[in-house]
Amino acid sequence: MSTATTLPEPTASKRPQLAHLTAVLDDLRAKGTFFRLRVLDDQQAPVCHYDGREVINLASNNYLGLCNHPKLIEAALEATRTLGVGSGAVRTIAGTMKIHMELEEKIAAFKGVEACVVFQSGFTANAGTVSSILGKEDFILSDELNHASIIDGARLSRAKIKVFRHKDVAHAEELLKEVQNEPGRKLIITDGVFSMDGDIGPIPALCDLADKYGAIMMVDDAHASGVLGRNGRGSVSHFGCTDRVDIQVGTLSKAIGALGGYVCGSRDLIDYLYHRARPFLFSTSHPPSVAATCMAAFDLLEAEPERIDRLWANAKYFQDQLRSAGFNIGGITTPATETPITPIIIGDGRATMDFSRALFDQGLMATGIAFPTVAEGKGRIRCIMTSEHTKPQIDKALEILTATAKKTGVGLA
Ligand SMILES: *Cc1c(COP(=O)(O)O)cnc(C)c1O
Repeated sequence: MSTATTLPEPTASKRPQLAHLTAVLDDLRAKGTFFRLRVLDDQQAPVCHYDGREVINLASNNYLGLCNHPKLIEAALEATRTLGVGSGAVRTIAGTMKIHMELEEKIAAFKGVEACVVFQSGFTANAGTVSSILGKEDFILSDELNHASIIDGARLSRAKIKVFRHKDVAHAEELLKEVQNEPGRKLIITDGVFSMDGDIGPIPALCDLADKYGAIMMVDDAHASGVLGRNGRGSVSHFGCTDRVDIQVGTLSKAIGALGGYVCGSRDLIDYLYHRARPFLFSTSHPPSVAATCMAAFDLLEAEPERIDRLWANAKYFQDQLRSAGFNIGGITTPATETPITPIIIGDGRATMDFSRALFDQGLMATGIAFPTVAEGKGRIRCIMTSEHTKPQIDKALEILTATAKKTGVGLA
């Protein structure tokens, strides 16, 4: 029998090493923007259960309802049965399966480009690409509202970052002129659809700039994939700019319903990324089920374009009703929405989070978004319509929004 005395386990809260994190959380609590994660009890759907409560769900990126489409589920199950649950390695060592190559060929054909590479997520696609194609002599011209994964990729590249005002092409040109005679390469990068405001990037005008100054043109189409363009080919296709954009990024995690990100472009771009993009080299590839799911989703985009039509009809109806009820859905101090992303601008962070909680208590899941996801003072409830919401569900959501806004005195202009 041991005679050693057992020391009491030190509790995490008593160790001082991470006290600075606790201080940040205390500050969030004081500002009213601390949140707990809402937990989904069942499937991602227009009506589902979070934290045990039935809600109308306006918070997902499941634009086309593909997260639980029977054909996609069947494809995932079949791939799992025949190919297993994991790929076993990173792509460059032993983890490239035939199904990964098939998915990349399918996406390249869909987008009308030479080649495609799939990453583990849209985040790693952006960060891995931007960081690997540029170096410290180079320049990145980036819209101020571009996604965090672009910003992180830009920082990792060590290129000099020039941020232009949101969608301000003249400002982008001013910045380009300043560095025009520097030896480094220039990359112009924009979101196709901006994730927090739902407005569309000025792609043709930025392509003009890229052509004029010999800059590389890159578009992150995460929120446009499956939503904009013929059969959901994205914003670049929507504007007829496929031949003028060197690098197109898309996600498989939103409208496509599964998980992943992809980069489309020339064969050389893709071969280069095979050799240099760090998430590709150092992080394991998708399980075969994910690749199979995505292939089935692209088939569906071609076979059932009516889903995309329903999505846009629902979004238009919802936004028209919100506007006539007096909600500020952007366009005054923030950009106006042009896509199914529908921000209801509140402003103050605490008021935003309180409003979101009040909506939840009435049976509406609509997430409050505050600093640092959006700028301080630009808090909003972000609603995303899907093709699968029914009119009675949308009307009920509108009723809850209006009643809650009247009761709490926020949201209505
Ligand atoms: C969601 C999003 C990403 C990241 O995509 P994931 O596949 O979720 O990692 C990248 N860019 C933009 C603009 C996004 O909205």
